[in-house]
Amino acid sequence: MKGKENTKKVNAKKKKKRGGSKRKLSVDQLSAYKSVSEWVFLGQSSSSSNPSSSSAVSFDDDFRVVFNPKFSDKLVFDLHSHSICSDGYLSPSKLVERAHQNGVKVLSLTDHDTMSGIPEALEAAHKFGIKIIPGVEISTIFYPRGECGTEEPVHVLAYYSSCGPARSAELEKFLANIRDGRYLRAKNMVAKLNKLKLPLKLEHVAKIAGSGVAPGRVHVARAMVEAGHAENLKQAFARYLYDGGPAYSTGSEPDVEETVQLIRETGGVAVLAHPWALKNPVAIIRRLKEAGLHGLEVYRRDGKLAAYSDLADAYDLLKVGGSDFHGRGGQSESNLGSVGLPVVAVHEFLKVARPIWCRAIQDNLEDFVRDPSGSNLEALTRLGKIKFPKGTNCSKYELIQHCLSSWLTNEERLNDEFEALKLKVTQVLIEQGWASGPVRSL
Ligand SMILES: [Zn+2]
Ligand SMILES: [Zn+2]
Repeated sequence: MKGKENTKKVNAKKKKKRGGSKRKLSVDQLSAYKSVSEWVFLGQSSSSSNPSSSSAVSFDDDFRVVFNPKFSDKLVFDLHSHSICSDGYLSPSKLVERAHQNGVKVLSLTDHDTMSGIPEALEAAHKFGIKIIPGVEISTIFYPRGECGTEEPVHVLAYYSSCGPARSAELEKFLANIRDGRYLRAKNMVAKLNKLKLPLKLEHVAKIAGSGVAPGRVHVARAMVEAGHAENLKQAFARYLYDGGPAYSTGSEPDVEETVQLIRETGGVAVLAHPWALKNPVAIIRRLKEAGLHGLEVYRRDGKLAAYSDLADAYDLLKVGGSDFHGRGGQSESNLGSVGLPVVAVHEFLKVARPIWCRAIQDNLEDFVRDPSGSNLEALTRLGKIKFPKGTNCSKYELIQHCLSSWLTNEERLNDEFEALKLKVTQVLIEQGWASGPVRSL
């Protein structure tokens, strides 16, 4: 979404030019770079793909650390993207392929109110050697309580580990309820348009959304363009579908603070999406900080937005960002990987996220040990459906192992508590006959 024109920007372009072809990294940047790259390339056996061990980082004549941009192993993160599983135009695998082509090393797929595209994205990412952070962008409503300001829709991003959310059934029910509300909302929007003498059929909107995809405003807008009621999507939004517009309707979006709490309880990192699109950002950020919000989107293709960066500092929140790529095409859309997240920002994000994810993985493993049912096993491996080469005897055991080794460092996996837990999981897998072949402890 576009921000206010008068927002101050700090553009990194000038700095880049001064450094010429070699960019000098400060000591902080170097240690952030090393730590982030270690995590990015976890579980990948080839050391050549790890820039911290290649010559991408070296020293110049004055023994200052330099990053050699000739190596394409820059750690490009894109933490916000959509596929056809919500209102994007590309399948999850095509999206991942595009991200890879654009040099993205870590992509978060954050479809609206669904994580249904994550398994396909993970499978494709495995093929291209990039990492997926399973995510979701949740549609919520902010209700002002006795404060000035108005009710308004708020999008909250949730980031999970490769093992997915803890208590995943609870989160899934929460999301399903929002998706159901979106069908009702589309119906209400179509009814409002018909009242405005703009004939449109709900079936048309549903067909554009695709089977099993909860329709959103953009699907209604596309149907309007196809029916000749608007010249383009922008016009459909500007005239009818904008927040509070003549054909606008809310669905059954949950309270934003409850949503942030649920994200925390299910082992996710909660980030406020595009705060520049809010009418009342300060009140919302203040209340969400109290509810446990972890971060704010402050980076866009055009740089860091100083006003929101200052707010993040004031409320001690992480500063992140992503392209919000939908694959619509056209110049106005930010491409995948176009948001230059500084490595220090990514490092701060991972410093907060990793203990949360580590805890969620342990919770999932504990649930499985307590109740080694197929559904709990499914919760552990659900997001790790990776096709192994033909002939590989892929057991559930290997799937879990893959999940853990691509997400947790040795340090994280070698503490006493985790060791004891892994041993129990291994025992259960053997007892249940889910471990084929020789079994080492996970
Ligand atoms: Zn959004
Ligand atoms: Zn989005």
